Amino acid sequence: MATDCIFCKIVAGEIPAAVVRRTDRLVAFRDVSPQAPVHILVIPTEHIASLQEVRDGRLVGDMLIMARDIARDEQIAENGYRVVLNINRDGGQTVFHLHVHLLGGRRLTWPPG
Ligand code: AMP
Repeated sequence: MATDCIFCKIVAGEIPAAVVRRTDRLVAFRDVSPQAPVHILVIPTEHIASLQEVRDGRLVGDMLIMARDIARDEQIAENGYRVVLNINRDGGQTVFHLHVHLLGGRRLTWPPG
């Protein structure tokens, strides 16, 4: 656990979050500032700052599969949804604990801003 990491505090239960799914390696919870009707973050329980620091690619695969399964549970899979990883400054990353955004429930535009 990294001190001063807000997502590590969510993993530890030190700050509240609307958790929708949890395994021993991953936690998924609703984004506090949703950008779509469904906006959920999937994170590893281990502190990893960004995709650049990932060593085991299976972890990222598991994050994507969890996002896919949540999309089905949230009933957005058929219409479609988006998964996003923001990386470092130009990628728009603001929380430096690896996370996948799951966004859906409305027609999403492309390209992103
Ligand atoms: P990013 O900009 O890709 O780093 O995404 C960070 C996301 O974390 C943003 O969408 C924030 O709204 C979200 N966020 C920040 N703090 C919290 C929190 N305490 N609970 C849930 N989501 C959060």
